[in-house]
Amino acid sequence: MSAVSWTLEARDGRARAGWLDTPHGRIPTPAFMPVGTRAAVKAVDSRDLTAVGADILLANTYHLMLRPGADLIARLGGLHEFMAWDGPILTDSGGFQIFSLEPEIDEEGARFRSVYDGSLVSLTPEGAVSTQEELGPDIAMVLDVCVGLPAPREVVEEEMERTLRWAERCLRAHTRPDQALFGIVQGGVDSDLRAKSAAQTAALGFPGFGIGGLSVGEGVEERSLALEASFAELPEEKPRYVMGLGDTMGLLDAIARGADMFDCVLPTRLARHGKVLTRAGDFNLRNAEFEADDTPIDPGCACPTCATYSRAYLRHLVRMKELSAHRLLTIHNLRYTLDLITDARRAIGEGSLDEFVAGVARNRSGGSQ
Ligand SMILES: [Zn+2]
Repeated sequence: MSAVSWTLEARDGRARAGWLDTPHGRIPTPAFMPVGTRAAVKAVDSRDLTAVGADILLANTYHLMLRPGADLIARLGGLHEFMAWDGPILTDSGGFQIFSLEPEIDEEGARFRSVYDGSLVSLTPEGAVSTQEELGPDIAMVLDVCVGLPAPREVVEEEMERTLRWAERCLRAHTRPDQALFGIVQGGVDSDLRAKSAAQTAALGFPGFGIGGLSVGEGVEERSLALEASFAELPEEKPRYVMGLGDTMGLLDAIARGADMFDCVLPTRLARHGKVLTRAGDFNLRNAEFEADDTPIDPGCACPTCATYSRAYLRHLVRMKELSAHRLLTIHNLRYTLDLITDARRAIGEGSLDEFVAGVARNRSGGSQ
């Protein structure tokens, strides 16, 4: 019996509304996970995350193993205790971060330079699992090999096969009964390789599946086909997590195809650049047109920022580089993204997801970019 399970509540076409049961509670899906890279979602704290309605967070194994170290976090009671977050947490395995550091990869594992002090670090599938067992999230991920796209088919296939072998090693190494280990589907944008990766990863019996290796330079159409090929081979009764996806239309497209979980730095990163997300389109508060605008970012938004502050004031904070601007805009952008997912979930329950998605697309095309 896995520590994490998923139950279907409603279906609309291929879209699914469900519930994810974890050792830290039951949460609705589709679910969006704010990214707490270093056990902190940049600019906000655990109380802010509760206030915006976040159900589940993601933290990065790669960063935490280097600073402050997984052993220290374990000694302090694990990630939940350490960051005072009582809800579910998922950690990535570090595969995606390592991939951006041009690692040396061989069958044993990956070697790369620490971003903190340049020292040589190695990470094996077994090491990624034991590190995540020390960190103590509800959901850990296998160590995968992520290939930058475009790439020759042979390279994508070779690393997809290696990811499968590493997945088996991760499963053998994983011992913590109060933690689930998810497999990761690779295969680039080649539908055959995606299908093969999904079928073979599913055969290993994981309680859930990440769809990795996307949002790395592929087109929207390519991504949609890769998701479709992956989902077709995954068991209906287990959750599917599209890694690194978080733009409005990308989320809705993946939900319509049957995705259940997401993470992305986009809402929080854009906030730190003054860009806000709204149903009427996204815009940058730096623009002169907001200088004397006394309305909230989005009159329809129930976040603490929109309830309290005007565009004019927030624009002033952004331009003066006041630190509070990062927090206030992050709160809004996270609430926007979480509300979008909540509304999509409701639409699935009502059998009206297509109309909902069309409405969002229509409203956005009327807004400024
Ligand atoms: Zn707001």
